[in-house]
Amino acid sequence: MADWQAWKKEAAYIGGAWIGADSGKTIDVTNPATGEVIGTVPACGSEETARAVEAAAAALPDFAALSLMDRVGLLWKLHDALMDNQAALAELLTVEMGKPLAEAKGEIAIGAQYVRWFAEEARRAKGEIVPAGVTGRRILVTKHPIGVVGMITPWNFPSSMLARKIAPALAVGCPVVAKPATATPYSGLAWAALAEEVGYGPGVVNVLTGSARKIAGAMMDDARVRKITFTGSTEVGKELIRQSADTVKKVSMELGGNAPFIVFDDADLNAAVEGAMVSKYRNSGQTCVCANRIYVQGGIHDAFVEKLVEKTRAMKVGDGREDGVVQGPLIDADAVAKVEDLLGDAKDKGAHVECGGAPHDLGGTFYEPTVLTGCTQDMAFAQDEIFGPLAPVFKFDTEEEAIAMANDTVFGLASYAYTQDLGRAFRLNEGLQYGMIGINSGLITTVEAPFGGVKESGLGKEGGSQGLEDYLETKYVCIDGI
Ligand code: NAP
Repeated sequence: MADWQAWKKEAAYIGGAWIGADSGKTIDVTNPATGEVIGTVPACGSEETARAVEAAAAALPDFAALSLMDRVGLLWKLHDALMDNQAALAELLTVEMGKPLAEAKGEIAIGAQYVRWFAEEARRAKGEIVPAGVTGRRILVTKHPIGVVGMITPWNFPSSMLARKIAPALAVGCPVVAKPATATPYSGLAWAALAEEVGYGPGVVNVLTGSARKIAGAMMDDARVRKITFTGSTEVGKELIRQSADTVKKVSMELGGNAPFIVFDDADLNAAVEGAMVSKYRNSGQTCVCANRIYVQGGIHDAFVEKLVEKTRAMKVGDGREDGVVQGPLIDADAVAKVEDLLGDAKDKGAHVECGGAPHDLGGTFYEPTVLTGCTQDMAFAQDEIFGPLAPVFKFDTEEEAIAMANDTVFGLASYAYTQDLGRAFRLNEGLQYGMIGINSGLITTVEAPFGGVKESGLGKEGGSQGLEDYLETKYVCIDGI
């Protein structure tokens, strides 16, 4: 048995036990590169979720009371367990999701970094003593774990999206009930196996697979779940925000993006092309921070397009486990259909295909990396997230025009700009309505910084000190008469 198969858990983990669905039903899991069924997971629903919440609620008092250094020590072990098993966990991820092995290894490593970061930040979850306005009074502000946290995550980063939620929750003493995406459940279930291996007690980490609506519904209905943290589409996020109202849960929402990537005439051309390549094509274009619209100023436009096309043509497409592959398959047939629809719409409205523009000869859900020029704001991808290897280039003249076009969307997650003008960099920071701005960088995710969006891209932050704060409740104590 290959190492990755040892991590392929075909059961849900609830209250410290590996279980099947009450109904006995299972769901097939497929390798998108081959179409082969690689295993099954339980089709859990409301009942199993209720038991997971019960187990988490029962674990809460003891886990929250664990000493800080015991909690930190468990996170160190979790970090080491991830890195000791990096290769196997990465292969599991590639087999169920399709991304190139090097990217999968990077994902496991960044997940481990989040664990280490939050182990460090847990030691700084400080309160304050605030000067009181009245003599004899003392005002204390203290921080406390919010309680049981429900987590729902997508398929595009099946391991690290959970890392950014599980690590801060465990760091401050919150038990977890997690539901990974149905397309990629094994990387989520691996978190339960890791937690079991390093010694988290029963009920502290629960992971279950199955019906999204039933599992989410049971989390939402239960008042003991004090927080819901979700990464996924804006559509589902909005539904969860509505549902959270009945029990007034705290919510963190990491939702869709529509990132502008702006290249000014004064940019370093090679750096801008490198940045566009990594921002656009990482994970075959299936990241929430992928460049969705590439705006290039008139003076540098043609040189930029020439180099972008040359590099795009040179990309090796294939099974993520093959040497040299930098672009895997799309997750499923719907993802291919969406790319085709957006491409057709753009061509009808006058866009020109510079390279690619069709399903790949490899068949299945492989798609040719594609560059389009002559793109305009009336094309559907100016508003919609592409989530595929389609790079639309728009030409612009002035900074004001670029900022206006960049902001012309309901989304506000990541944005990028290439320029050597520091004054412009500050103006962009002030003018771009985005939670994250990369100046001369196409890859900005890092554990030390607060990752998150504004507008319809979400609420709350992951990473940074803000990422811990989201799992804490603030209390104020007024001490008088002593
Ligand atoms: P999705 O369809 O919203 O699914 C995400 C998760 O929600 C999955 O676990 C899914 O379960 C579950 N879900 C689906 N319908 C649900 C419902 N009615 N109630 C509760 N849960 C439900 O999104 P996706 O297609 O997997 O992921 C792509 C989206 O995620 C993109 O929009 C992308 O931009 C966004 N994303 C955002 C970030 C960020 O940090 N802002 C990061 C990564 C991805 P099933 O798998 O069982 O359907």
